[in-house]
Amino acid sequence: MSTIRILEATVANQIAAGEVVERPAAVIKELLENSLDAEAHRVTVDFSRGGKAQMIVEDDGKGMTGDEALLSLERHATSKIQLASDLDRITTFGFRGEALPSIASVARFTMQTRPASAPSGTEISINGGKLVHRRDHGMAPGTRIEVSNLFHPVPARLKFLKSDETEAAHIVRLVRLYAIAHPEVGFLLREDGREIFRSPGNAPLLDRVREIWGRQVAGEVTIMPAFARPGMRLSGLLGKPGVSRGTRQDLVTVVNGRPVDSRTMAFALTESYHTLIPKGRYPLAFVFLEMDPAWVDVNVHPAKREVRFRDEAKVRNFLIESVLAVLRARADDGLPVATIPAVVPASALTASVPKTVSAPVSVSGVTPTYVPPSAPAHAPAVRLGWRLLSRLREERAVFETPTGLAILDIGAAHQRVLYESILAQFTAQKPVSQPMLVPLSIELEPLPAAVLKERLPLLASAGFDFEEYGRNFWRIQALPAWLEPEAALGFVRDLLAEMARREGDFGRPSLAYDALAKIAVIKARRKGDSLSDAELMELVQALFRTVQPGTCPRGRRTYVEWTDADLTRRFG
Ligand code: ADP
Ligand code: MG
Repeated sequence: MSTIRILEATVANQIAAGEVVERPAAVIKELLENSLDAEAHRVTVDFSRGGKAQMIVEDDGKGMTGDEALLSLERHATSKIQLASDLDRITTFGFRGEALPSIASVARFTMQTRPASAPSGTEISINGGKLVHRRDHGMAPGTRIEVSNLFHPVPARLKFLKSDETEAAHIVRLVRLYAIAHPEVGFLLREDGREIFRSPGNAPLLDRVREIWGRQVAGEVTIMPAFARPGMRLSGLLGKPGVSRGTRQDLVTVVNGRPVDSRTMAFALTESYHTLIPKGRYPLAFVFLEMDPAWVDVNVHPAKREVRFRDEAKVRNFLIESVLAVLRARADDGLPVATIPAVVPASALTASVPKTVSAPVSVSGVTPTYVPPSAPAHAPAVRLGWRLLSRLREERAVFETPTGLAILDIGAAHQRVLYESILAQFTAQKPVSQPMLVPLSIELEPLPAAVLKERLPLLASAGFDFEEYGRNFWRIQALPAWLEPEAALGFVRDLLAEMARREGDFGRPSLAYDALAKIAVIKARRKGDSLSDAELMELVQALFRTVQPGTCPRGRRTYVEWTDADLTRRFG
């Protein structure tokens, strides 16, 4: 083999690696999938420094002979398909034969492997795509792959990696998904030798969710019995009515043992819950769909988890019918369907701030927690001269103004007032904080937990006091005064999800405060019919003390006005 050919192969692999391994978690994904394809009963994953320093995946699967092991590092070497027509019936995770050579081309890579039939194993070591050594290695049957110094051979890619904690969070999320998807396999995940979770194979699903996802989540779901249609089978766990999330983080969908993203499935699940959780929120679910592999298309982008179904409508209907059957049956058990929606907002925690906001008294400024200490001091008592003429449905009110006629959008006005009062507290650098007599406790997914750690100073400056008391367990000792304790957990979850989604916006304090205040008011929109006339007038007064009375924080108008001249023209 000439030098030039080796270089070409390495470069080709590094290019392929750009697609296959974007971050440490993607390496773990490929290795895990190989272990599962090799019919392992036990898989152990170890990593350190977010996987950047080292990742090890060890299994007790089929293993490889020395020659197979060498071959497995060639591009397009796969034992899993032979013909293009096999692509229609893929039952294994891998089939491209790209992962191992790609990973080995951008890291230091050591594979030890032994099939049960061979007396001993082989060790192959590769650095940046070049063979370092191949030798015999005594070991139990199975395969152990160690990847260290990821991206050192391609430094340009190193700088795209996020903090150790964020990368670690991605790894933890990934291994959890695979562990949930494979009940027959025992999983152990460790970071720097510390156990993150361990789940023995063959435990009932609810137990696995408790081990892998945590006790809090396990308490929020109930068992969904199995449903079947010709060629399809569905089972899993469903979130209790009223339990919801701001992202799809706990909407876990598994198709034929593969954790997947499926718009169709997410949509069907969210649809089924539509009166049970607030709009724009996602239910909690662990749903397992099994179907003929010929009906599923997994041959999409290597790094993505998306699947497509040959008949999307069929899958969607099956899901909706099954989930609704479960939810209805539950309703028959004493929770009448009609009352569920009414129950929801209170228990869902999701309405976040509105409790504070919707107490009319807070608008008037009587609640000391509502008005920022600095605001009323220099707030001029504006004499607006607006006179309330009438309510217009629930959302609006009509006023006579000194120059004409105005229609106020009560919800939008509310949001503007609340937004500026929260912002004023932030910028005053003295957030009004309410200590909790009994600290709230919250268990966070690794990703939100990493975000929380990164943003602790910001949150402290906004009036939050968080304390970590175990891996991913946090105590909330104090809240900003504008946040109702009952709404706090939901608010914090939403906030962290939003922070993870819009990393950039939360880097600079001014942007961060703005984003935080916007999140705080986003669900503050409310019906106006619970405000008395006097409170409505106070809202108008407060609105015109804000910097931008004309719009809500998201730019919708708070009122429209017709001057007398406008009106004259219209009659003219
Ligand atoms: P693919 O999974 O697409 O076939 P990979 O590059 O991931 O491609 O792996 C190449 C081949 O190496 C696999 O087809 C399989 O035969 C073998 N292999 C990889 N990992 C393992 C493992 N943990 N145990 C047994 N065989 C493995
Ligand atoms: Mg593979």
